[in-house]
Amino acid sequence: MDYLPIFLKIEDRPCLVVGGGKVAARKIALLARAGAHITVVSSELCSNVKTLVEQDNVTCVERPFREEDMDGVVLVIAATDDEAVNRAVSELAHQHRIPVNVVNAPDLGNFIMPSIVDRSPVQVAVSTGGASPVLARLLRARLESFIPAAYGRLARLVDDYRNSVKQRFPEPGQRRYFWENILQGRVAELLFAGHEGKARAALQEAIEDTDAHYDSPGEVYLVGAGPGDPDLITFRALRLMQQADVVVYDRLVSEPVLDMVRRDAEMIYAGKARDRHTLTQESINELLVRLAKEGKRVLRLKGGDPFIFGRGGEEIETLAEEGIPFQVVPGITAASGCASYAGIPLTHRDYAQSCIFVTGHLKDGSIDLDWESLAKPAQTIVFYMGLHSIPVIGRELIAHGLPKETPVALVQKGTTRKQRIYIETLESLADLAEREQLQPPTIIIVGEVVSLQDKLSWFGMNSSGQRTD
Ligand code: SAH
Repeated sequence: MDYLPIFLKIEDRPCLVVGGGKVAARKIALLARAGAHITVVSSELCSNVKTLVEQDNVTCVERPFREEDMDGVVLVIAATDDEAVNRAVSELAHQHRIPVNVVNAPDLGNFIMPSIVDRSPVQVAVSTGGASPVLARLLRARLESFIPAAYGRLARLVDDYRNSVKQRFPEPGQRRYFWENILQGRVAELLFAGHEGKARAALQEAIEDTDAHYDSPGEVYLVGAGPGDPDLITFRALRLMQQADVVVYDRLVSEPVLDMVRRDAEMIYAGKARDRHTLTQESINELLVRLAKEGKRVLRLKGGDPFIFGRGGEEIETLAEEGIPFQVVPGITAASGCASYAGIPLTHRDYAQSCIFVTGHLKDGSIDLDWESLAKPAQTIVFYMGLHSIPVIGRELIAHGLPKETPVALVQKGTTRKQRIYIETLESLADLAEREQLQPPTIIIVGEVVSLQDKLSWFGMNSSGQRTD
């Protein structure tokens, strides 16, 4: 984080704007919206600034900037087109320890102005840390389009009833559950449809309804987090990630995906590095049951798809036995994500009519597969957890009849920015581990479809087909 986002109360506080051009006018207007007492210092004033000066709370001093202008102010904006003046203002503000923003020179000041979506009292501020104001504006435009205009009114309504709801539901968990119901239910819909009176009445009714229960029933969401790229999670996964009380996650769940979980959710790492299981499967099953019985909404977040080599079935079996409600959200499995991001179609009319997902990894570390049925022509084989069996895979598939030139792709950390692809043949797999430093997670794709990779690779490439990293 390069900057700390905060919201500053400047109502009735003195603020200084140095400069009288159009840019200064925009900043003055913004400060005025936040209720500041603004002094504008500039030898010349453009018509936009003059209009603002005629309004309340804006005082104008028509002369060059002087040090004493800074006396007593809580915020300074340097917005002249003279770099030397901006620099001088900034230096003085630093000396006086007053927060200062220098327009178009973020590095000179110590705060920057975000792009704002204003649904007061709801505000969304977007910043790129000064890197690209255009990007921030584009993002703001997107947010504008999906935050209903009535969000401000909704927030005010909530504010009006906060205390009575607090008295009615002294327990914070119940209170949160109550508000989640209100804000996603009829009250919000009535307000968005313009029926503020009816919305208030419905809210009042909900508060007084002593029959309603807002004890959160414990529940488990078994959610697939996909192979790494956070853009690949589903809308449903995102929604559940935002409302979970506690998250039990695996090693395979990527950092950017974890970043999207509700900020105040409790995070429990369940591990699962190969041979270094942090929690045994049994204790994970028990943990999920215990948390749900405490009334929590438990997000069990797993890499890829929970039902593909994810032991998701075992986890919900225990929940079903205990009568705990659960739902399962599919995710993009590693085979599909890595194949797409590597440019390898898993089936293809000319090369492969079937595709098979296997895992070679057994509990005791050995590999025990029906090689006969795997080593078939026109079939793609995807090996999960195959990193430690690479030489065996090459040897056995050749021994069971596949040509030794059959192409093999190893996709390491697929769909992430660290994705690496190794293209080999069944024969060259023998000494691969000695030649290359392979790291988990890696998926192995065997079959003629791999030969298309050269042509179809797209991820991490620029428009001329060169790697960008
Ligand atoms: N449920 C998961 C698979 C868990 S088994 C899914 O559906 O994807 C773990 C194996 O998945 C790893 O050993 C590796 O072979 C593969 N894998 C998972 N994520 C991967 C990634 N980002 N890149 C390459 N392989 C991955």
